[in-house]
Amino acid sequence: MEDTDPSEPTGPGPSPQRQSRLFTLLYSADEVQQRSRQIYDEMLARSPNLQTANFTRIGADDLERLFAAYDREFFRGRLSEMLLEDRALPMGFRLSGRLVRAAGMTTRLTRPVRTLGQGKGKSELEYEYEISVSTTLLFGTFRDVERAVSVGGLEVHDRLEALQRIFEHELLHLAEFLGWGKSNCRAANFRSLSRRIFAHEAAYHDLVTPREQAVVAHGITVGDKVTFEYEGVRRVGRVNRITRRASILVESPDGRPFSDGKRYLTFYVPLPMLQKLP
Ligand SMILES: [Zn+2]
Repeated sequence: MEDTDPSEPTGPGPSPQRQSRLFTLLYSADEVQQRSRQIYDEMLARSPNLQTANFTRIGADDLERLFAAYDREFFRGRLSEMLLEDRALPMGFRLSGRLVRAAGMTTRLTRPVRTLGQGKGKSELEYEYEISVSTTLLFGTFRDVERAVSVGGLEVHDRLEALQRIFEHELLHLAEFLGWGKSNCRAANFRSLSRRIFAHEAAYHDLVTPREQAVVAHGITVGDKVTFEYEGVRRVGRVNRITRRASILVESPDGRPFSDGKRYLTFYVPLPMLQKLP
């Protein structure tokens, strides 16, 4: 058995000491609810972007704010301590429109760094961590599609709650990277941590994806006539393809020739920006 005090910081890199410092974190479902509600209220009170629980604006600084609050309320400051030990503080936070299936992503970059004056060819590892959150899924949810939504096996009632559950999941990835050097949310270790710290019951979400948004909210399918604004100009065209965004063909003398003998410019437009025309 380890005989280390889990409240004491150790050295850099993953270690059994770090693992026990993370595994001693344990909260009841009531405590989880109370602490996460406190963070919810704090975000609404302090963020210059959010304004309301179903916010329409969010900045990377909100993710920083969330991180600080979660590290304090749930991790007793241990995440930033470990990041500091790894010389990986400040870590990166990013909002991504490109994540359309995963609601968030946590990455750990490792790169060897030559250190001068420590013998020839000697190198150390340097770590960098980044958490990304999908704005496509956040803003696609609690918009027009009306149904129950869950993240981490827990029902969420607004965007801020969804953001919190997504962020909690990503923080567990970060904790695993810091403690174990690798992370997998389908494995037993992750599930165990997620239950102990956040009372999560699952590691998936059913946030509204662009495809569902397109069909349910906008009734938009390929071939539809649509209008959208691009760089201050309102344009009219037809939906040619729907993936993460819709590709719209707009007739224009500046466009490329197509098989129907006309010329079209192609625009890639986020689905929420499209308006269907009769
Ligand atoms: Zn995951």
